[in-house]
Formats: sequence, C-alpha cells, structure tokens
Amino acid sequence: MIKPYMGKILMVDLSSRTMTEEEIPDRVYEQYLSGMGLGAYILYHRMPAGADPLGPDNILGFCSGLLTGTGSLFSGRWTLVGKSPLTGCWGDANCGGTFSPAIKHSGYDAIFFTGISSGPVYLYVKNGKASLKDAADLWGRDAVETEEALKKQYGPKAAVAVIGPAGEKLSLISGVCSDKGRIAARSGLGAVMGAKRLKAVVLDGVQRIGARDPQAMKRLSQHCLKWINFPLPLPGWMLGYVGAFLRITPVVFPQDGILYNSILRKWGTGGMNQTSIEMGDSPLKNWDGTNRDLPMSKSRTINPDIIRSMEIVKYHCYSCPVGCGGICAAKGKYPHTHKPEYESVLALGGLCMNEDLDSIFYLNELLNRAGMDTISAGATAAFAVECYEKGILTREDTGGLELKWGNTEAIVELIRKMANREGIGDLLADGSKIAAQRIGKGSEACTVHAGGQEPAMHDGRCDPGFNVHYSLEPTPGRHTLGAHLYYEMFQLWKRVKGIPKPLPLFIKNSKFRVDGEKARMSAACSKFMSLANGAGMCMFGLFVGIKRVPTFDWLNAATGWNRTPEEYMTVGERIQTLKQAFNVKHGVEPKNNFISSRALGTIPQAEGANKGRSVDIEKLASGYWEQFGWDAATGKPKEETLRKLEIQ
Ligand code: SF4
Repeated sequence: MIKPYMGKILMVDLSSRTMTEEEIPDRVYEQYLSGMGLGAYILYHRMPAGADPLGPDNILGFCSGLLTGTGSLFSGRWTLVGKSPLTGCWGDANCGGTFSPAIKHSGYDAIFFTGISSGPVYLYVKNGKASLKDAADLWGRDAVETEEALKKQYGPKAAVAVIGPAGEKLSLISGVCSDKGRIAARSGLGAVMGAKRLKAVVLDGVQRIGARDPQAMKRLSQHCLKWINFPLPLPGWMLGYVGAFLRITPVVFPQDGILYNSILRKWGTGGMNQTSIEMGDSPLKNWDGTNRDLPMSKSRTINPDIIRSMEIVKYHCYSCPVGCGGICAAKGKYPHTHKPEYESVLALGGLCMNEDLDSIFYLNELLNRAGMDTISAGATAAFAVECYEKGILTREDTGGLELKWGNTEAIVELIRKMANREGIGDLLADGSKIAAQRIGKGSEACTVHAGGQEPAMHDGRCDPGFNVHYSLEPTPGRHTLGAHLYYEMFQLWKRVKGIPKPLPLFIKNSKFRVDGEKARMSAACSKFMSLANGAGMCMFGLFVGIKRVPTFDWLNAATGWNRTPEEYMTVGERIQTLKQAFNVKHGVEPKNNFISSRALGTIPQAEGANKGRSVDIEKLASGYWEQFGWDAATGKPKEETLRKLEIQ
C-alpha cells in the first residue's frame, strides 16, 4: 500500500559509531504523525529521566513532516527535537527550506543521534546508506562556509544541516542552520549538536514519497492556490497606519489571514515591522518601552518597502507558493544576505532601540553564520544594555563598550563578541537568564524569559494569547503554537465542532477577560499546531484559514485514514500531552516556566499602546491545563488523560 511516510528511522550512536535502521509501526504514525510527533514519541520513550542535555543520553532528532513530499502545499518544514540545555525542558525548533524533503528522500522519516563522538564528525546518508565522516577540517568554520564545502564535495543537490561556531562553543542560544542561512534557532539545540561533536548532517537521495490519493492531493492544492494569490492593494507606507488604527480603535473584528498572506507574499515577515510597533505587538527597549519610544518618524528606517527594495530574489521553501524569504543586497561585509525576518529586525532593532537597518542586516547574517538565535541574541543584548544603563554593568565589565540604548556601534560589537564568546560575550552567550545568574546585583529584574528562553517579538500585553503560550507550552517561550490572533486566522470553528466562533465585532479589551472560551481557544491552537508540526506544515500558510488550506483533507488524501477534523485534533492533543509528559518525566515543574512579570504587565505600563494592561497567568494556566485534562493546579497530565490518549 502507498504511504506518505517511509516507515523507518535511523538511530546513530556517536559514542560507538554504530547505526541502526529501525522500522516504525504504522500505529505510531497514526497516533503521532511524523515530524514533531514522531520526535516526541522517540524522545519520551527512549531518553532516561534527568538526562544531561549536553551529555550522551540526550537524543537529537531531525524529523521530516508526514505531508512533506506528498503534493500538499506549505508542507516543507522539518523539526529539530531534543532536551533543551537552555530550559531543561522539551526542546524543538522548526525550519523551512529544502531539508525536510531531503530527510525523506534519503530513506527515512527522521534521523536521531545519541552518544558523543570522540572527535568532530558529520553524517552522510545517500539513499539509505549512512556513514560517519571526519569533520576536523570543518570544525571552526561558519555555517555557510561549511555548507558550501560539503556541497562542493557531494554536489549542489545534497541538503546540509550544520552548526556554526556558536554551537561548537556550546552557546545555549545556538541553533542548526540549513540552506545557507535558515536556522532552526530555538531551544539551544545547536549546543546539543556541538556537545555531540556532530558538525553536520548531509543528505542525498531520490527515495520516492507517495500519497494514497494523488489526484485528491492535486485537487486540494489547486483549491488552496486560488486563495494564496489574493492581492493586497495597500502600499508599504500605509502599514504603520494600519497598526496605529488597531491601537486606537476600541472595537475590532476577527482578522482574516488572507490579508497577512498578501503581506507575506509581497514583503515577507518584515512587512509587519511598523504595524506591530504601532499597535503595541512589538516589545521595545527590553520590554520596558512603548510605541512612543519608536514613533513612525523613527521606525521608517525599517519600513517594509525599504527592505523590499534591497531584495534581489525571492526565496520559497519546498512546496510553498508564497515565498516570504529573500536574498538581499546589503552594504558591508556580507553583500548577499538573507532578508532578515520580522523577529530578527525587532530583536536586533527595536528591542535594543537600534534604528540602523544596515547593522540589522549585518548582525542577521553574522548570527546565521555563527548559528545563533537572533531572538535570544537580540534580547540578551537588550538585557545587557539595560544593565549598563542602570549601572549594574560597567565600562570595565563590557571591555570599554558604551552600552547605551541605540548605540549601534556598541550593540554590533557586543553581539559579535557573543557569537565568538569573547570577553563579555562569553558571559552573555548562554542567554539572559543565565547571564543574570552570573552577574547578580539584581540583574534578574532586567530579564524577560519563560523558563530560560527569551520570548519572540510579540507582546502578550497586546495579545494575551502570546503570554499563555510563552508560559504554558511544553517548549517555554514558544510563540508559534498559538495566540488570539492565530485563533482568528486559523478559523478552525469552520471545520472543528465544539470550539468557539468569535463574534463579527468585539471589544478589543475583552481579550483580557479570563474565561472558559479563551481557554478553549488557546487549547485548540496548541492542538492544531502540534498536529501541523507533525505534518510539517508552515504556520504562515495555515493563517490563510482551514477551509482554504485544507490540512485535514490533505492528511486524509495522503494517508487514506478518512478521519474527522475532531479525530485529527485528538492527534494534536496527544502530541502536546506527550511533550508535557516528557517535561514531567524530567522533573520540570510547569509553573516555573511562567514568563517574567515585566511581560505580564504585573506593573502595568503607564502609557502607550498597552497602557494599564496586565495578564493573570495563574488563572489562564488553570483553564488551559484543564482543557487538556492536566492537573489544573500543577499542569501535570492526569493518569486518566494519559490512558485516554494511549500514552504509556
Ligand atoms: S510562507 Fe515563508 S516560511 Fe512558510 S513555507 Fe512559505 S516561504 Fe517558507
């Protein structure tokens, strides 16, 4: 029977240099799909409790999505899984590009690494034949140089995932790069790869990926394409005013992601830069500023049209009709560079009050090559600036850097030092929480993190759903599993029975009311996105809405399972619960992962877009945990829930 998965994984023990091919029963795919779900299944069952994230028992997995290669759109995301050395919790990071289909083409659904190699190695797999090779010559080289060297050896079609110097030096905010600058950045999993002395994974192959009903896959993709090409008649300069309108209007309507899709197609994620600043979605000045600190007269330097004018060529992930990425011409050391994402522009820009776009392009490329997370790096730099401004760090501590808000030169040098672990950069290279523990002197009050991970550039005082997911996801600080805005755009109520349908017009501040409806919305987002991460789907595509991007129908056409949307939501619920069970197995107390009080607005801001707002995370947590059948006081999955979901 034709299946959309390979039915096999590769287990590589780097200590003994042995490789084992394992068949995975159909039942596992039926219950967890592939991608993040398969990763959670393997790590939960095989990693001993309390495993040291940088030790031999941690398992690092590269997982392709179940729908990858089956003919569905938006299904080219791969998921990197492991125990996070940054948070001590379940860790994952998600990336697009071309690596996800390459995992399947090489013959496997996922490749997992245990143990620690005695010296630097890389894995080469061609059509199910795997070998470990010496990587001494590659160690110390940046991610792009390493990928180029490996492609020269194995040909341009080889897909490469690699760590840069940050991962080698065990920076706990390092990630894994592919496609010369895309990065699976979150959770510090680059350090896990560095600790294993695994420099790269090189995949080459032509194994076929099937779908049960290819005609239906095609029909569904054609239906989806019609919606993706919807044009947006707005010019770039108006996007900031859209944000200003959303700031001042007391009444809003549920947002339709088809508009966001048009922005993505034209400008990429950076199309939201000014809108987000104006509406209060973007945190500024280390989460202590407001939109008034960066008015449109100043934020015009990161106007989407300016960034777009630098784009030489658009960039599409595998099977994506949108192409939100791009290669740009930039000034300075890196003349050709990836277009910085929204998150990178704001973390390296507004969060540090840095208005210089050229420096943002430079730092984005520098960090991609080093293999360091731009969100955490920018947030940790902003933390250091605040510490300096408050006298907690001195000029002597910084090696002479005048770390003032908006001092571009000093901020660039600081981040360069972090990427290389030089001087004060060594102290900061493991993120802001650990830096504060090292610095002391009350510096913890200047950190904003959830369980040790810096949150993304979306302020939960603007959309409280972000604070729910930053605080309560098994991956602390996670911004891609849900928010009120996401719920509106997914439009799940059009297919899934029993979940709330937003009113056509509602009072904006009603989002801050804590009630059962909000809990059901947040839980539905987490279930749906966990399912999507098992399928390998891109969240941006899903924003277009479930009837237009027919994820449940693609899954049925690819597998022949013929399930209802509710049954698929149960798959997402199972994946989410297994990740939470992983945390509990490893001694994590979910309550310890609530985001810092500054981001919750415990002392509300006195002015700006989010004036007077605060979020009661304790109450929100109980409601969210109850929705999953987890203990409402502790967040730990109940026995009966595990039994119901057939989790052993
Ligand atoms: S929308 Fe952007 S990130 Fe998502 S798959 Fe397409 S190109 Fe990749």
